[in-house]
Amino acid sequence: MKTRRLFLQKASLSAMALAVPAFNPLSAMTNSMNIVSKDSEVLRVAIMGLGSYGTRVAEAIQDCNRVKLVGVISGTPSKVEDWKSTYNIPAKNCYDYDNFDAIKDNPDIDAVYVITPNALHKDQVIRVAKAGKHAICEKPMAISAEDGQAMVDACKTAGVHLLIGYRMHFEPNTLEVIRMRKDGELGEIRFFQGLCGFVIGDPTQWRLDRILSGGGAMMDIGIYAINGARYMIGEEPIWVTAQEVKTDSEKFKEGIDETITFQLGFPNGVIASCLSTYNMNNLDRFYLNGSNGWVEMQPSTGYGPIEGQTHAGPLTEPIVTHQTVQMDEMAAIIFEGKQPEVPVNGEEGVKDMKIIDAIFEAVKTGEKVALNLS
Ligand code: NDP
Repeated sequence: MKTRRLFLQKASLSAMALAVPAFNPLSAMTNSMNIVSKDSEVLRVAIMGLGSYGTRVAEAIQDCNRVKLVGVISGTPSKVEDWKSTYNIPAKNCYDYDNFDAIKDNPDIDAVYVITPNALHKDQVIRVAKAGKHAICEKPMAISAEDGQAMVDACKTAGVHLLIGYRMHFEPNTLEVIRMRKDGELGEIRFFQGLCGFVIGDPTQWRLDRILSGGGAMMDIGIYAINGARYMIGEEPIWVTAQEVKTDSEKFKEGIDETITFQLGFPNGVIASCLSTYNMNNLDRFYLNGSNGWVEMQPSTGYGPIEGQTHAGPLTEPIVTHQTVQMDEMAAIIFEGKQPEVPVNGEEGVKDMKIIDAIFEAVKTGEKVALNLS
């Protein structure tokens, strides 16, 4: 069984390099309608980090067709006990942060989903890869492009997939906007606006500790505007400018950004104008303008339902649980080499990290910073 599984996994990695199927707008919908072929393999996942988002993912996995939660990696024994009984997880599939390298000898786990504080992702993903398991990692994939690249390299060396938890890449209304843009229904794209933020609470949480977070709002929520600008416009930016405003330097210490406005320039003159903040609520809005049409989405990246208007009417694609669809699609990527409409691989994550690095540099220097994402 182990040999067959390993063969299939390696085979699907090679197939990935060869097969680039055309975009099938029905794929996300098919998934949301719970259709799965009888002989589809099931991806057996262990979650690392049983916090707020890990809990959400675990619940969403219960509705997956092709994914099963089979293990946990946690530093909190009481949570492990809870999860064992809630999700029927056997003791042999429970690990802590010291002993999880032993997962390499556990044939019942195919992949580990890393859902811990940002700065821990790099070492944890590299250890998962060295254990021969596929790695799924939350955004931001790391706290710098250099760290992100090291993760990509480690997974390549180990022959395992590295997938980033970009759940919006599977969200039906988002995919519909991408289809409209690709089919020319918006004409020539001219402008994107992405506004992403919320008021952060507890000043003692890891998100406000630079060592664990690697930055403030930008790493956490601003990344949605960066990633969204790229998939909405459908090009890679070539420069960035950025400005920072801080109203509370006690809560938002050195290295923790509170509010940053930034502008991305694209090759054909398209501009993205974005806002990332930990100081404003109800900020979750995308706007895309083309020569023949427009799209306005609000909420645009929250857990949903994602809603929006276009010049041709409202967006009416099915409402799905993002993490359920994401996980089923990730099983298809791993086992069949399926190519999602917008990539979720490690390279995609590194591009966002390069932009974040450049935004921080632009804030510091006040200069326009050139980007090379190719
Ligand atoms: P939480 O603080 O709720 O949970 C993080 C968990 O990581 C903890 O509960 C803990 O689990 C584990 N952990 C390990 N080491 C540490 C440490 N030194 N300090 C704190 N926790 C530690 O965070 P979230 O779940 O909200 O975020 C986790 C990751 O998920 C982040 O990278 C974040 O950006 C991402 N995220 C993504 C979202 C999305 O929509 N894609 C939404 C929310 C978050 P344990 O006790 O089991 O060890």
